Amino acid sequence: IASCLVGSEMCIRDSTGARNRRVMDQELKIAVANKRRHQISSAVLVIDMDHFKQVNDRFGHAVGDKVLMSFVELTNRCFRHEDRLFRFGGEEFLLLLCNTNEKGLRTAALQLQAQIAEHLKSPGGPVTVSMGGAVLYANERWQDWLQRADHQLYEAKRAGRNRIHIDTYQVAALA
Ligand code: GH3
Ligand code: MG
Ligand code: MG
Repeated sequence: IASCLVGSEMCIRDSTGARNRRVMDQELKIAVANKRRHQISSAVLVIDMDHFKQVNDRFGHAVGDKVLMSFVELTNRCFRHEDRLFRFGGEEFLLLLCNTNEKGLRTAALQLQAQIAEHLKSPGGPVTVSMGGAVLYANERWQDWLQRADHQLYEAKRAGRNRIHIDTYQVAALA
């Protein structure tokens, strides 16, 4: 899919309707600043289509593109106005949730998974996704935050796909 739409959205969205990578980096930096200055917690969910290569191979790239667009549409429908969906890579997305703690992140991920199970389809049947999530720590760099979520995504794939893995906050045991 072409990388960018020019117009009133000033080139922040690509043709799936999700925001692009460039604005994603900016918004993650803003989330880090909000945590530092105002103790507002944010969470990310990295989402990757399962076995998406098969969808393209069986039905063609245009059908694959339609699945991506319908994913963006249903995700935007199911979240709050201040939440942001970015296209992170080819068939990989990042959802940024403001004012969200670990419990809220879990709830949001489950809600999205239910919507996907109900609505996301290719001509071959349901399309599933794997998700990895992490809540931003105080004084954490956005790159490290993202890496924790990405690691959880990797674990979700490894555990068999169509599942949600959230990084849990471990309080160090006092010696
Ligand atoms: P996994 O469950 O491990 O994620 O399997 P996968 O097949 O989804 O993963 P892989 O990374 O091997 O392949 C991703 C595929 O996504 C490859 C490419 O054909 C497809 N893809 C990436 N971007 C686009 C796009 O913009 N449009 C379409 N139609 N397909 C895309
Ligand atoms: Mg994939
Ligand atoms: Mg991928």
